[in-house]
Amino acid sequence: MNWQELAEKMVQTQIAARGITDERVLEAMRRVPRHLFVPEPHRNEAYADYPLPIGHGQTISQPFIVALMCSLLGLQGDEKVLEVGTGSGYQAAVLAHLAREVHTIERIPALAEQAAQRLAELGLENVHVHIGDGSLGLPKEAPFEGILIAAAAPRVPQPLLEQLNEGGRLVAPVGSRGWQVLERWTRRGNSWERETYDSVAFVPLIGEHGWEG
Ligand code: SAH
Repeated sequence: MNWQELAEKMVQTQIAARGITDERVLEAMRRVPRHLFVPEPHRNEAYADYPLPIGHGQTISQPFIVALMCSLLGLQGDEKVLEVGTGSGYQAAVLAHLAREVHTIERIPALAEQAAQRLAELGLENVHVHIGDGSLGLPKEAPFEGILIAAAAPRVPQPLLEQLNEGGRLVAPVGSRGWQVLERWTRRGNSWERETYDSVAFVPLIGEHGWEG
């Protein structure tokens, strides 16, 4: 099977079958070559239904969780979006097909550099990779219509809530270091509406508004 067939099968059996209906999200998941974001020796499992190690003790999220978080952002295509926790760069590549401009921030420089190189090789010029503590957000690029935290937070960092536009949405796994619940926060003036979704297990968000390293 070539990778397009594997991606199509992944979309049908893992994502559409579990209720993700946003056609733009399904199409983005078909278009990104996930195997290019998974280092050896796990590359042959790139389209499987689970997270995989990417080095430095970090993981690339399960495809379904990537799709679910993207669909909860409800992107139409004209948004400026922030991702916290670049990791392999895979989720940023999916977001690049869903939004106008994507900023992604990673605290481990080696991961950020590899991700930036992969994204550039794929010609995804609307993604910008930054190195730093994303629990503080990215004030110089704020505000954002969407923020996605791809690491587990003890609580949603206040600076990130402040960096949302009116009506903007933030999606994050919130809970303990071991397990979390996906939360979506929507900005309404100076208050935020919170909804909760699936249980998940992410690596920790390490930083000033996250866990201690
Ligand atoms: N979205 C990634 C998976 C992220 S794994 C992908 O598609 O591959 C979570 C990542 O968050 C890890 O790479 C980890 O180093 C990073 N991270 C943890 N705390 C962070 C922080 N405060 N700021 C930026 N990145 C952080």
